[in-house]
Amino acid sequence: MTRLVTFADAKGQRLGAMLEGGRLLDLTAAGGAALAGRTADMLALIEGGPSVLAAVKALAANPPAGAVLDAGAARLLAPIPRPRRNVFCVGRNYMDHVAEGDRTRGITNPELPKFPQFFTKAPDTVIAHEDWIPAHDGVTKWLDYEVELAAIIGREGRDIPKDQALDHVFGWSIGNDVTGRDLQRRYGQWFKGKSLDRSCPLGPWIVPADELDALNTGIRCFVNGEKRQDSHTSKMIFDVKEIIHQLSLGFTLKPGDVIITGTPEGVGYAMQPPQTLKPGDVVECEIDGIGRLRNTVRAEG
Ligand code: MN
Repeated sequence: MTRLVTFADAKGQRLGAMLEGGRLLDLTAAGGAALAGRTADMLALIEGGPSVLAAVKALAANPPAGAVLDAGAARLLAPIPRPRRNVFCVGRNYMDHVAEGDRTRGITNPELPKFPQFFTKAPDTVIAHEDWIPAHDGVTKWLDYEVELAAIIGREGRDIPKDQALDHVFGWSIGNDVTGRDLQRRYGQWFKGKSLDRSCPLGPWIVPADELDALNTGIRCFVNGEKRQDSHTSKMIFDVKEIIHQLSLGFTLKPGDVIITGTPEGVGYAMQPPQTLKPGDVVECEIDGIGRLRNTVRAEG
């Protein structure tokens, strides 16, 4: 499995591919003609298209010795550290999550959404694997987690038919849609509760689209080792193809766009009794075939 990363060390920020045995291939150093001009950042690599991705896979399969680093000496950044546009999000996209949310409002007979419920998070909410999440405890009393499959767009398109939607996906990653529940409700529009600083952990890497059937894989979230969410992406109400189709109607999706596709049941605010994230809590979001995204909540200083 190819795991594409953006990383930083004393020499600065670069692109890489994780290798077995705690090693990291420095794609900027490995370079070569096939990658020329495509290793400035993840967006440049994505825009290089299939031939560049094929060259990366070939390098990862047969890494040049001079370009292999100890992964422990590098710090992972989010695979796309600062998306060019807002992170696109879908709310209420797993039936059991719709039901648990409705239960907190006394609704016992939940209605299926007829269309995806889109909202966004600002680009600068994105943080990396192992970065800290601020508790924002002066602003929200109900900080919560949401593990989500992230689709990274590879090819520009508008009015994308459902049966061509996956052709526009470059790869898959993991997102955590950290939410201030009280703010989400207070302001009507979800943006305020969904776009707190550092509220979008993303990573640890991108797995190329052709290496994972992300529409049929396990998705989980753990808080301090306790399993809170445990579902399957096949349970989405609107699958990734439908999301891309609907989002792209009259709206151009661009390379490097990030779409997080909704969270399954098991969020803290719907637990009995309700649970909120506190300073010191370790949140791990896991998707089979991608990996695990880990972040710790910190009291904001
Ligand atoms: Mn969400």
